[in-house]
Amino acid sequence: MPRVTPRPLLDTYGRVHRDLRISVTDRCNLRCTYCMPAGGLAWLPRSEILTFEEIERVARVAVEHFGIDSIRLTGGEPTVRAQLPELVERLARLDVDLAMTTNGVTLDRLAAPLRAAGLRRVNVSLDSLRPDRFAALTRRDELDRVVAGIDAAVAEGFDPVKVNVVCMEGVNDDEIVDFAAFGRDRGVEVRFIEYMPLDADHAWQRAAVVPGERIIERIGAAFPLDPLPHGSEPARRWAYRDGRGTVGAITSVTEPFCTACDRVRLTAEGQLRACLFSLEETDLRALLRGGAGDDDLAAAIATCVAGKWAGHGIGTVTFVQPPRTMSRIGG
Ligand code: SAM
Ligand code: SF4
Repeated sequence: MPRVTPRPLLDTYGRVHRDLRISVTDRCNLRCTYCMPAGGLAWLPRSEILTFEEIERVARVAVEHFGIDSIRLTGGEPTVRAQLPELVERLARLDVDLAMTTNGVTLDRLAAPLRAAGLRRVNVSLDSLRPDRFAALTRRDELDRVVAGIDAAVAEGFDPVKVNVVCMEGVNDDEIVDFAAFGRDRGVEVRFIEYMPLDADHAWQRAAVVPGERIIERIGAAFPLDPLPHGSEPARRWAYRDGRGTVGAITSVTEPFCTACDRVRLTAEGQLRACLFSLEETDLRALLRGGAGDDDLAAAIATCVAGKWAGHGIGTVTFVQPPRTMSRIGG
């Protein structure tokens, strides 16, 4: 039984935070152009990465003190962290909605052990269904394995399995309808994500963002859609009128959902970030390794979230791209 009565994890704008995103590694087996540089990044030494015990402790404090009820594992690529099912098993005991975002490359092998360990939901990132383009976008020739990974996740009973597509003008926007058909055929929800300025090469341009509205218009012209009710969640969703599933759009740039944001992020080396675009972090690893008690950790988490800004401000003159790439934050 928890020792404390949970209190809401509030910021000064009244947003209650319930969703903790945990990056379990900065490493990755792909080099997506919109995320990592071609040559990769210098990986963090093992000693700088939180241990499973440390991750579990932060997660437990977040659940017990603040009623965090949703945890998503991410990275880097979470499946390259050795013994990942062991961490899943530990976190599954916290009785939260436990999910993972992965590039799917090793999911054909890992879907079964992760499911057995207690992972319920999985999002697989996939930005092209064309082998040559997939290889150019990820700088690795792994399309077949990712598709096999999606099939394995469906076969193992992950529910739902979602496929995340970062849609970029002139890069893969001609595959929007192909992706919709892919989702309908496989019974997975495809969600189109607007390209954000979090790339290592700092090459992001507003002109490369395909607005979610345009994506949905194009899909609707091929497969008629009906909008689904929209709550506080980032994805807007539509149902195919013929009953063959749903499709979503995450419009972080053109229609930011910052006013409803309930997320907080822990990097692989234990820095807590109140926003994907934060320029400041709270060093939980120093507390964990310095003998801090649970109340000290909870106080640091509360202070970090209390200082959260109103929104990311992409497109405004004050916007500053954070020094971390998406792979070093945890998407
Ligand atoms: N490696 C895993 C993966 O790719 O799913 C998990 C980490 S990855 C950083 C998390 C998500 O961020 C992926 O869906 C990826 O496509 C997305 N992402 C990375 N860079 C992005 C960017 N610049 N704009 C939008 N989404 C991005
Ligand atoms: Fe790796 Fe995911 Fe970044 Fe692609 S988006 S380089 S798979 S961390």
